[in-house]
Amino acid sequence: MIDHSRRSFLKTSTVAAGLSLFRYLAPAELLCLDAPPDASARLAPFPLGSVRLAPGIFKEQTEINAGYLDSLSVDRLLHTFRVTAGISSSAEPYKGWEDPTCELRGHFAGGHFLSAVALASATSGNEVLKRKGDELVSGLAQCQQKIGNGYLSAYPADLFERLVQGKPVWAPFYTYHKIMAGLLDMHVLTGNSDALPIAEGMAQWSGDFFSGISAEHRQHILRTEYGGMNEVLVNLAALTKKNRYLETARLFEQPDILDPLAERRDELQGLHANTNVPKMIGAARTYEVTGDRRHRQIAEYFLEEVLTARDYVIGNTSLDEHWKTPPGQLQGTLGWTNAECCVAYNLMKLQRLVFGWAADARWMDAYERSLFNCRLGTQNANGLKQYFFPLAAGYWRAHHSPEESFWCCTGTGVEEFAKFADTIFFRRGSDVFVNQFIASTLDWKEEGLLIDQLTQFPHEQGTTLKLKTSRPIARTIHVRIPGWTTDAAEVKINGKTLEAVADPGSYLAIRRVWQDGDTISISLPMELRQEALPGDDSVAAVLYGPLVLAADLGPGPAEGPSKVIHSGATVPEHLPSPDPLPKILAGPGIGPDQWVLTDSGSELRFKAAAEGATYELMPMYQIRDQRYAVYWQIENPKEGS
Ligand SMILES: [Zn+2]
Repeated sequence: MIDHSRRSFLKTSTVAAGLSLFRYLAPAELLCLDAPPDASARLAPFPLGSVRLAPGIFKEQTEINAGYLDSLSVDRLLHTFRVTAGISSSAEPYKGWEDPTCELRGHFAGGHFLSAVALASATSGNEVLKRKGDELVSGLAQCQQKIGNGYLSAYPADLFERLVQGKPVWAPFYTYHKIMAGLLDMHVLTGNSDALPIAEGMAQWSGDFFSGISAEHRQHILRTEYGGMNEVLVNLAALTKKNRYLETARLFEQPDILDPLAERRDELQGLHANTNVPKMIGAARTYEVTGDRRHRQIAEYFLEEVLTARDYVIGNTSLDEHWKTPPGQLQGTLGWTNAECCVAYNLMKLQRLVFGWAADARWMDAYERSLFNCRLGTQNANGLKQYFFPLAAGYWRAHHSPEESFWCCTGTGVEEFAKFADTIFFRRGSDVFVNQFIASTLDWKEEGLLIDQLTQFPHEQGTTLKLKTSRPIARTIHVRIPGWTTDAAEVKINGKTLEAVADPGSYLAIRRVWQDGDTISISLPMELRQEALPGDDSVAAVLYGPLVLAADLGPGPAEGPSKVIHSGATVPEHLPSPDPLPKILAGPGIGPDQWVLTDSGSELRFKAAAEGATYELMPMYQIRDQRYAVYWQIENPKEGS
């Protein structure tokens, strides 16, 4: 989430520069809710209720997250909404970004929380959280009715007036989007019938907001972060089949941001990362519901550019929340404030959409990279999440407090940890795609097919699919053969090895008539490899299969404000300077198999012989309280001696 004071400064600078910055904007071309001709070729996830996590690390983390969600009180979450609507409330308000004085209040309380409990209810049948969501929706409905014009927020509409007047204000539409998205999630995922009309009322209000505002003035207003307004309105249009919401969605499009991407130009330097990824999700959804290929090209180019030129090894991007360098030039950017967690959440959301268009395994490889390295591991044992993901050596993980922070990353974090089941299996027609290796069960009731995925991955280098069906069933099952595996990857059906396996980085399609009890065993050998920091070949990280390995640099700070931040701040106070990167003497052509020893492949424990020290290595997601290093300084032995 962009810092208020910094954003205000940018805004002031823009105003000072005058409106001449904005070229004449032609009216957006008309798009409508036509089913695109290629829609039937797309993949889609199974409904969340069809996939259940089985015991394993993902299920364990989901349950910790559910415990945190359940610790929050609906009356306290509703407090500032009720006060804003003129309904009495004696509940104790939450603090941090939910404090009654914070200009983002309501983003979590009436937004992310709703999305998270809806996801938890759909993926694990959590009735307790569903009831909390229903109570919250009912409280929000009362607030909206009391206000009377469709508007719903935890702050008065004055904040939007400040947007119109060009006065400093944090991000009113950003918060508005979270609430609309939470309501839609409650409607779509849990069937709450009250939630949809509330969201429609909010959509109507946001369309009315722009009436009488010129295109140039609107573009000026859109310079203030507005989250996924575009996406949620497209989603609402698709759900209700009402074209007017699509028209409102298009009011939240910025040619200044989208045009260069449509022309395959990376002009991202200087932009705030998490302000802009949701715009690409909106573009992706616009393509999906209208068939407009320009919007598809924008989303695809953006994703490809970030993946190849702006990502760190953990599968996330940004420094101080921004893209600060030219593409491919991340040298000198390792610090505490790398890789805001929300950005990974949004990039992964975009990856699963883009994957659905052409089943390109690259996007599921990228999804896995982020999932294992910068989502898993960012929640502590009490369900509290990280904001930044420090990548300089010697730092540690810091988390928000239970009731005094409520960052944006708290919000996307509680959603992420409630939806680990959403990308494991996809379908296209009657075909099944196995994308992620997570212990789980797919129960495709309409087809009478159940697939148990039995795996200890990544402790096990592969997975097993066991089919249950009441009758023989002809079907193609596509299994991802990840880009990180080796030519020794192997697939067996009922113990018999297939002669050919797809190349790493693609899907293996297995078509046959499946019988009850058929078993597909997939062996995916992992190996060590090294990846340089973009723009600096002398700085590299080590991976084992999809896992980024981190060096354990010893205990982190004791329990206290360096580990849990009891305020709305996102960085602990009094941070020390980082350590130098641990140094490896390894010339050109010397791979990590020369300086990293595998202690135990199943336990995922390694050792690295660095200059002057030996380091214990483990997957980054297993680093909890330790200080760590992800990147290494690689020096030619001659230079280093
Ligand atoms: Zn965030």
